Amino acid sequence: MLEEKVLEELKEVSEKLNLNFNKNWFKVAWITKEQEVLTTYLSDCRRPTYEKYGHNIQKRLDNIKEFYESKEYQILIKEYGGQVIYKESLPKYKKLADYINNKEIKNKLIDFQSGINTTIGNSEKIAVLTETNNEEEKENLMNRILGHEWIHVLLENNNIRPENWKYNEGLVTYIDHYRTNELNNLDEFEKSTTCSHTKEYYKNAIIFRNLLIEKKDKNKIQKIREFLSEDN
Ligand SMILES: [Zn+2]
Repeated sequence: MLEEKVLEELKEVSEKLNLNFNKNWFKVAWITKEQEVLTTYLSDCRRPTYEKYGHNIQKRLDNIKEFYESKEYQILIKEYGGQVIYKESLPKYKKLADYINNKEIKNKLIDFQSGINTTIGNSEKIAVLTETNNEEEKENLMNRILGHEWIHVLLENNNIRPENWKYNEGLVTYIDHYRTNELNNLDEFEKSTTCSHTKEYYKNAIIFRNLLIEKKDKNKIQKIREFLSEDN
């Protein structure tokens, strides 16, 4: 199973990089694409399409009906992806739902919250992926995207969480490509992606690759910690 393969690779990465690893940290739940879009919209995600509706959650909440009825929403719900959800954030979705008058949006948030609540159990965080019937999407979700979200979990459980989102995503992207031995492909990905938000992931992953290229595996994390503490 792909999920087991990703977990096995993360274990290997952790051994090489000298990171703490515990397989119980890694859980996954499936949500609908609409739930993914609505909850990302109601987060601190800096993607320009969401920023258009407000730079903070309160503003986005005020504009949620407009967003839900927009062409942009229809485009976004065709995408697939994942995110990390924290157990402590679950009550937040219920509170947000209370503010929303639109029944459809409200119910999507409530179902999201109760579904994750069931799967997360006693864990602090969980990777969530969008349900799909498309085989190619499924393959990508179970390998690249699950790997990405679980690396967020792995790093956070090792107390590495860059405050700057570009470094955070860049570092996760770097480690994910290290996991699959694809560090040489980062430049190609950076050039080929048309999404300016995703471009930042690769651009910053390349910064980490250049920073760490001469460091032995066992010294890489130390170098990362130093770099991040130097006001980054
Ligand atoms: Zn990420």
